[in-house]
Amino acid sequence: MDNVSPTTPLISVVIPLYNEGLHVKELLSDLKTALQHIGCRFEVVLVDDGSPDDTWAKIKDAAQTLRNVRAVRLSRNFGKELALCAGLERAQGNAVVVMDGDGQHPPSLLPLLADKWMTSGADIVEAVKRSRGRESLASKFGALTFYVILNKLSGFELKGASDFKLIDRRVVDTWLAMRERNVFFRGMTAWMGFRTIQIPFEVGPRRAGKSGWSYLRRAKLALIGITTFSSFPLRLVTFAGTIFFLFAVGWEFKRFI
Ligand code: UDP
Ligand code: MG
Repeated sequence: MDNVSPTTPLISVVIPLYNEGLHVKELLSDLKTALQHIGCRFEVVLVDDGSPDDTWAKIKDAAQTLRNVRAVRLSRNFGKELALCAGLERAQGNAVVVMDGDGQHPPSLLPLLADKWMTSGADIVEAVKRSRGRESLASKFGALTFYVILNKLSGFELKGASDFKLIDRRVVDTWLAMRERNVFFRGMTAWMGFRTIQIPFEVGPRRAGKSGWSYLRRAKLALIGITTFSSFPLRLVTFAGTIFFLFAVGWEFKRFI
């Protein structure tokens, strides 16, 4: 992967990978093709999220042979959101693109993301799903229910939002300064309030393997999204606590008289 002039902006591409050993090579080749058209310097930060397959061996190979590739390995599987954080902490670019590494976020969109960032003055250029791609009915229903609840409780409209986006250094630094542990990345980037523009994209098919997200993991992320974006659950617990307290006092009082 060749560099252009050292004075041009640097774009980092951060990709969390879990059990994606089968197609790391193909991913890098697609990235190389796409990044050649950008006219910026770039680096690729590949984060192995504790994969049991040969993902780490493939990433290490790539980092040894390609000078713009940096390899990060997490000690165990922490989940995509935390793998993303680890990548963001290491990215050095003036802008950072975050994307999935299974082919569902097409690298061919990178030149458009970079062009919009350079010409529009926006701090975030986010790729928004035209449709949800191939997914089970249960997944689609679950996602829709989550977005409706989140919208009702917090006012944020995240339907169609994805983790495929370019964020300016200002946003990355603000994000890192928050040091949030319960991360719901797509929600938090919206919450930070930076100037955002959207470009629609078609979710590609997964290149190989299967999704690393179990239903339980998705439910946990949904819970993090709801509890970090709305005080409603907290108020509900307080309300229920008060009712039980009053009931208990009433009960004791009745026994007493
Ligand atoms: N991923 C990860 N850690 C995990 C699960 C997934 O880093 O525990 C990565 C995965 O390798 C991919 C991206 O996150 O690059 C999106 O994951 P996946 O395709 O499994 O999710 P889906 O497309 O089903 O939402
Ligand atoms: Mg996927």
